[in-house]
Amino acid sequence: MATPRSLRRPWIAVPVLLFTAWPLLPCEAQEWPHRSDLVFTVQGADPSLARETIGILTAAHAEMAAASGVALTDTVRVVYVGKDQSFDSVVGGRFPDWGVAAAVAEENLIAVRSPRDHPIGRDLATVLRHELAHLHLDALTGLRQVPRWMQEGYAQQLAHQWQFGDDWIVARAVFTGRVIPLRDIDGVNSFRDASARLAYAESYLAMRRFLDAYGWDGLLLFAGRIRQGGNWDAAFFEATGANYAGFQREFKEFITGKYNWAAFLGDTVLLWIALVVAFLILYIVKRHQSAAKRADWERQEAIEDILYAPFERPGPDDAAPHTGA
Ligand SMILES: [Zn+2]
Repeated sequence: MATPRSLRRPWIAVPVLLFTAWPLLPCEAQEWPHRSDLVFTVQGADPSLARETIGILTAAHAEMAAASGVALTDTVRVVYVGKDQSFDSVVGGRFPDWGVAAAVAEENLIAVRSPRDHPIGRDLATVLRHELAHLHLDALTGLRQVPRWMQEGYAQQLAHQWQFGDDWIVARAVFTGRVIPLRDIDGVNSFRDASARLAYAESYLAMRRFLDAYGWDGLLLFAGRIRQGGNWDAAFFEATGANYAGFQREFKEFITGKYNWAAFLGDTVLLWIALVVAFLILYIVKRHQSAAKRADWERQEAIEDILYAPFERPGPDDAAPHTGA
């Protein structure tokens, strides 16, 4: 994962490094080894951070293994990179400067900029789970490339990364007719920030859609076919019985239907959120107007005080009360 620190709600770009060999695994998914005692080593962290890291990754790995039925088998090395170190040298010089974390599958490595030196800008558990998920999917595919939406969708699913605001990003794209075709998400690294955030939101939804339709079995079958050297179209058809191009078209129709105005107004949660936001905006506007009006009155009173003050001074008779009989 590479998270641009300049964004408030950062997007994620993971350089999925798929060039060298993952340790060979048996061909059939059901024969892949299962282990719940995966070892993690942590470098560059104090004992507290190391314990937290191992705790997060151990729980995440158990969850991923339980969900998929497939566990990682080799020790995963986590390196926290301090500001006195070169992040590029740790991950192989193929990572943008603004990244906060990366998964290097061929080395079973997760590199994270040290929280001591760099504000990660998001929950550490989310960062670690996201990177571990990339290693996990790379293990399933034997380091062969899968569609980018699938990589990022998988990582976000397992990192629980759908957030408030993602709905708005997708809805805005639907309303403005700027939904990104899934095939174009392969080029996400060249996208501008806003498009990249939309690409990741779509990736999440697409993977959710895939898992809902074909389940883990479908994903494992797809990954297995890819690992055997199949192309995306053939692997998709063999795994799901569906046409990959058809899935992409159907996905676009799905989000267009899900995020249209009628669906939006029919979604009670979104409607209530919209009402609350509208109320807050109205409240803030009213407060500004009242404050402006009050300031105007005070200014007016100050002017009147200056203008009329000489006439309002008490006369000598008013100032000295009568004391005589
Ligand atoms: Zn990622």
